[in-house]
Amino acid sequence: MPPPPVIKGRRKSVAPQELNKGNKRMSCVIKPPEMQTKKGKFGEANRPNQKFFEMIQIFRETLEITPISTTDLIEAHRICVCIRKRPLNKQELNKKEIDVVSVPGNGTVLLHEPKTKVDLTKYLDNQVFHFDYSFDETAANDLVYKLTAKPLVQSIFEGCMATCFAYGQTGSGKTHTMGGDFTGKQQNSAKGVYALAAHDVFAYLNHRRYNNLDVSAYVSFFEIYNGKVYDLLNNKAKLRVMEDDRQQVQVVGLEEVYVNSAEEVIRIIQTGSACRTSGQTSANANSSRSHAILQIVLRRNDRASTLHGKFSLVDLAGNERGTDVSSNDRSTLVETAEINRSLLALKECIRSLGKNSDHIPFRMSTLTKVLRDSFIGEKSRTCMIAMVSPGMSSCEYTMNTLRYADRVKELNGNVKARP
Ligand code: ADP
Ligand code: MG
Repeated sequence: MPPPPVIKGRRKSVAPQELNKGNKRMSCVIKPPEMQTKKGKFGEANRPNQKFFEMIQIFRETLEITPISTTDLIEAHRICVCIRKRPLNKQELNKKEIDVVSVPGNGTVLLHEPKTKVDLTKYLDNQVFHFDYSFDETAANDLVYKLTAKPLVQSIFEGCMATCFAYGQTGSGKTHTMGGDFTGKQQNSAKGVYALAAHDVFAYLNHRRYNNLDVSAYVSFFEIYNGKVYDLLNNKAKLRVMEDDRQQVQVVGLEEVYVNSAEEVIRIIQTGSACRTSGQTSANANSSRSHAILQIVLRRNDRASTLHGKFSLVDLAGNERGTDVSSNDRSTLVETAEINRSLLALKECIRSLGKNSDHIPFRMSTLTKVLRDSFIGEKSRTCMIAMVSPGMSSCEYTMNTLRYADRVKELNGNVKARP
């Protein structure tokens, strides 16, 4: 007996769909020209890890993509943790590195870790992470800014102590995000989070809403290397960090420059950044080994210049420095230990803030000491932008970064700012 027509119909409609799906997959795998041409010596496509590349492509086909956009509702988080993935760069593309990070949106990030079994079968260990936001390689600085640091700028007008951290491996895009795009060797400072924040500070200063606030803006810019503070606006003068009997932490003698426009702030950033990278011959040569902190401070126009609000923007030392213990060189080991300690302290301080704990372990490092007032009380706001490099060769560091950010986020899933 022939099957009832309705089933026949349904089967008919399913089959071409399945076929199409297959075709789509195949086209996705076959299309890239580097895979169609240039066969290797043994007839394999000329890309190392071709098999993993294909496996990741097939996996991506199954992902539902929700692109992030500027019209997304911006939630006021007391603690916000997000991930930004940079594109593969020229060298990586030349080496035919494969991209092992997927960002389908909605705060989700996947790391496809290539693994090989003892019998040489290849497989992917796909790890999923969730954050407040996840930015893929097409996201520009202004989008990242709008969802991360911008709400913090407003908060300092409400009297908050805000911090924004750029965390990640060297080369993952921390300075690009904070300082701005590079065109050749020239950094376009106007497109970084520093400058975008400065613009908004002056926009708010002139805004009707904050008319009777009567505050002025000041900027300081310094670097922490090996637990010591160096003033980037004063020829890297070495400064002391003191804690008074009321537990107020002071960086003694830190330059704080009165500023009247965003352009002035940008000029100051350029001077400071040049100072940061100049004379790189000795031990503190590389900017990846130090934390750079730009502070935008609002002070009331009273006699004592009372502090009203403060925004600290921090370009952290490369997190790979904290894990590299292979060196025998004593100064490198000391450096490594110090970076490790400060990144650990930072994580613990943010976690304590999330738990509303009375004990904030800020004394663990100079970094957390100088940022102490940003970790205490109702008026603290924090945002961490964790940067990841997409290449397979960075896989281990990317995993470290995602795990670190996940630990920071862990307790803070539902911590929202009180209006
Ligand atoms: P880090 O400060 O973390 O060591 P950089 O910000 O210096 O890393 O970035 C390394 C390189 O990658 C730079 O050449 C930078 O211009 C480029 N880069 C980083 N992030 C991006 C991005 N989102 N889009 C395009 N290029 C980027
Ligand atoms: Mg950098």
